[in-house]
Amino acid sequence: MKLLNNNGKVNEVILITPSGVSLKEVKIENIIVTDLNGVQLEGGGVPSSELHMHLEIYREREDVMAIVHTHSPYATGFSFSNEKVPRLEGFGEIKEPYIKEVEYAPPGSGELVQLVSNGLKNDDVMILKNHGVVAVGPGLDEAVLLAEFTESCAKTGFISGVLNK
Ligand SMILES: [Zn+2]
Repeated sequence: MKLLNNNGKVNEVILITPSGVSLKEVKIENIIVTDLNGVQLEGGGVPSSELHMHLEIYREREDVMAIVHTHSPYATGFSFSNEKVPRLEGFGEIKEPYIKEVEYAPPGSGELVQLVSNGLKNDDVMILKNHGVVAVGPGLDEAVLLAEFTESCAKTGFISGVLNK
């Protein structure tokens, strides 16, 4: 997540969760502060292995203030299949029937950084093939909601897929 200073201007620093700490266990003192080049300014741990993906999205999309990356089970299950996650109502008008998916690139790789930041130029959520979900928003609450909604679309899609077999 990017920070605002007292004038409401965006500070050139981001907050990111550490690698190797369960999200349930993350406390304020585990959060890492870096500049937009990834130079660590505060926090004792090692930043998430997807730090460069987050930084590139922030550089490409000035409107994005928060990024949520999950391996939530239903959406990630879809990413390991040939089925696409249906884009259900709640995303507003349904222009495309499915949530976009970017092709596979290894986690933490430069290739994944490029695929995801290109994909997010005109969308706020992506499924990463064989990996998980990235959702962005103008604030942390919006990005979390979008990630949760994506998981709920995947769950509904899974159930309707089973029932319609
Ligand atoms: Zn991941």
